[in-house]
Amino acid sequence: MIEEILNKNTPNKTDLIQLLQTEDLDMQHLFRKSKEVKEQTVQNKVYFRGLIEFSNICRKDCLYCGIRKSNNKVHRYNIEDEEILKAARFAYENHFGSLVLQSGEQKSPAFTKRITNLLDGIQTLSKGSLRVTLSCGEQERETYKQWYEHGAARYLLRIETSDRNLYAKLHPNDALHDFDQRLQCLYNLKDLGYQTGSGVMIGLPFQTIESLADDLLWMQTMDLDMVGMGPYLEHEETPLYAFRYLLMSQQKRFELSLKMIACLRILMKDINIAATTALQAIDKGGREKALKIGANVIMPNITPGKFRNDYHLYSNKPSTDENLEDCKRCLEIRIYLQDNKIAYDEWGDSKHYHNRMTKTKTIKRVPDREIC
Ligand code: SAH
Ligand code: SF4
Repeated sequence: MIEEILNKNTPNKTDLIQLLQTEDLDMQHLFRKSKEVKEQTVQNKVYFRGLIEFSNICRKDCLYCGIRKSNNKVHRYNIEDEEILKAARFAYENHFGSLVLQSGEQKSPAFTKRITNLLDGIQTLSKGSLRVTLSCGEQERETYKQWYEHGAARYLLRIETSDRNLYAKLHPNDALHDFDQRLQCLYNLKDLGYQTGSGVMIGLPFQTIESLADDLLWMQTMDLDMVGMGPYLEHEETPLYAFRYLLMSQQKRFELSLKMIACLRILMKDINIAATTALQAIDKGGREKALKIGANVIMPNITPGKFRNDYHLYSNKPSTDENLEDCKRCLEIRIYLQDNKIAYDEWGDSKHYHNRMTKTKTIKRVPDREIC
């Protein structure tokens, strides 16, 4: 039965539901297949993106997130530009190829300008050889445009769940947390020419297997270039913590996340898939396990050590790897052990992006809505 599904080129919703429910030998079969697809399409290369979590200041109140605006137990920080550029230099000098700048959502002309200046600074120090991904939440189309023109080539904005009813349960019901607005931001990013990344959390309260299968199909319909998804992890200082009794065990969430990655690799063969930090929070070697069965991107945290403990999106977020050199070396060993090679000095652009750009010289235009 599983054999039959795995022999299909593109699984449908019923197939995906079955694949997400596999256990034991069937699950190993699914992983063998996704590993094979990975090797045939994106090969066994792993791309490094140095992750700088440069500020935990956020104007939003997502009900699952530890750094939400209303959590007044959080010590807020904003890393100085100079220190951010120093971390960027570390990535450059260590041949990472790419960098991710991530923060809580801030929206102001000053913030827009600040990111623009940082992008210019990174271009200068790396002589244009570092690819920059931004992950700074929902912004105006004009802001995204400005950042794109200053060298940001990729943007990560998770939809969190493609099910609008579930989305409404995970966010306050107001204009700042609007599902359609988030979607429109993704359309804008794509339309502007970004390599566009999104993703979901896995194992959320109220989430079903059917909904996760829909998430995978949504990613396919959105024709995403990159995906980052990982297990939902409860944080006791958030409203969603009250629903922890509905959760499956963390081990089950971890396993389900690996199955999601495997299914996605089979469904969207040439995209970049990240082995996310949340996997590591449950299983020390979790990211490497994901790389083995389908993921091809890893984001070593290069945020200066003294800020790590304050970017607590969820409990047990790994904040070790304080010594950047050590972090690099042990990752290397672990990745080699999983039959993957690190591609130093390569941008590791999404093959899917290049394929779709050559296929459709003009990207499908989406209607302009002035809502984000
Ligand atoms: N503020 C930006 C980027 C930082 S948050 C944004 O929201 O897009 C980055 C991601 O962390 C979110 O997209 C969400 O998927 C993830 N995250 C937040 N809280 C989490 C939790 N409790 N468990 C797992 N992932 C979480
Ligand atoms: Fe802010 Fe992002 Fe956390 Fe939402 S998920 S509260 S936008 S940091």
